[in-house]
Amino acid sequence: MRTVDLRSDTKSLPSPEMRRAIAKAELGDDDSGEDPTVNRLEAMAAKMLGKEAALLVSSGTQGNLVSILAETNRGDHILLGDQTHIYLGEGGGVAQIAGVSLYPLKNTDDGLFSLDEMKATLHAGEYGWPKATLVCIENTQNLVGGKVVTPEMMRQAGEIARSYNLPVHLDGARLFNAAVYLRVPVAELVKDVDSVTFCLSKGLACPVGSIVCGSKKMVDEARKWRKLLGSSMRQAGIIAAAGVVALEHMVDRLAEDHQNAYRLARGLASIPGVEIDPEGVQTNLVFCKIAGAPGNELSQRFAERGVKFYHMGQQRFRLVTYYGITSEDIDYALEGIEAVVRKQGR
Ligand SMILES: *Cc1c(COP(=O)(O)O)cnc(C)c1O
Repeated sequence: MRTVDLRSDTKSLPSPEMRRAIAKAELGDDDSGEDPTVNRLEAMAAKMLGKEAALLVSSGTQGNLVSILAETNRGDHILLGDQTHIYLGEGGGVAQIAGVSLYPLKNTDDGLFSLDEMKATLHAGEYGWPKATLVCIENTQNLVGGKVVTPEMMRQAGEIARSYNLPVHLDGARLFNAAVYLRVPVAELVKDVDSVTFCLSKGLACPVGSIVCGSKKMVDEARKWRKLLGSSMRQAGIIAAAGVVALEHMVDRLAEDHQNAYRLARGLASIPGVEIDPEGVQTNLVFCKIAGAPGNELSQRFAERGVKFYHMGQQRFRLVTYYGITSEDIDYALEGIEAVVRKQGR
C-alpha cells in the first residue's frame, strides 16, 4: 500500500542535483581545513547569515552542543524555553557534557518566552543563585507549533541579553523556514544572536549535516570541541556538496512545504473530531489534537490507512511537510486520516 510519511522533514531525500553534486565533489582532508567543498559551503553559509565564520557539523544536536561548549564553562547556567529541543530533545547532552545547568522559561504561544520572566530571572543573581551566562532561543519553535519568532522579538530578547552581557545562541534547525515565512533575508533573523545552528538535513533535504555560524573566535572554539567529540571528518565534501546545492536551490522552495502544510491544516479542520486552528500554521509543522482512542493506537490505525505521523503525547499529533511531499500526497493523507477518525466517531 502507498504510504505518505509525515513524521518529520528529516525523512526528505536528496534531490537529483544533490546526488550529482555529491558524485562530482572536489575533496580533501577537512580535518586539516583542506576540503574545498566544505570550505565553500562554510563560506557560503557564513555570508548568507552575515556571520564571520561557519562550521559543518554532523547534526543539529551536535551544532547546539559545540556552540554551548564554546560559549560556556562548567557550572554555568543557561536560560532557554521549556519546550525547546535543547531542553527536551537532546538527551540532556549539554548538562552531561558541557556541565551546565538549565533554567526553563515557559515558552509562550508566539514561540518565544516572556521577556519579563527572562529579565526577572537574570535580575535574581544573588548569593547561591547560579550565574546565567547564555540565552538560547529556538526559531522556528518546533513544539509550540513551528512558530516563527519575528526579528522584532529577536531584537528585544537580544537587547536584554546584551544589557546583562550575555551571548545568545539560536537553535535555528528550521531557520530557513522562518526566513521564508517572513520573506526576510536569513541574516535579518540572526543579527541579534552570537551563534546559530541550522540543519541541512531537514527541509533543505540534505542527507546529513548542520552548520554552526558565529564570530571567528566562537567558531574556532566550536571546531576544537567538534574534534574533541570525535566528529572531525575527512573528505566531508561528500556531505558539503549537497549543502551547497541546498543553499543555492532549496531555500525558496520551502514556501511549497508551507503551502502544503496549510492545505493539510485546512483539510484537518474540516474533519469532525480533529482540533486545529489552521490560521496558526505558519511553516511546515502542523500540530493537532485528535480525541478518542489512545494516541499510539490511533497512530497505528493511521499508518494502516497509509499515513504516518507522530503522536506527541496527550492526544496531540505532529505532521510535517517537506521536499518530496506533494499537494496530492496531502489529499491522500487527509483521506486516510478522515476515514480513521470517522470510523471511531461512529
Ligand atoms: C531536529 C532539531 C534539532 C536537532 O537536529 P538533529 O540533526 O536531529 O540532531 C535541533 N533543534 C530543533 C528545533 C530540531 O527540530
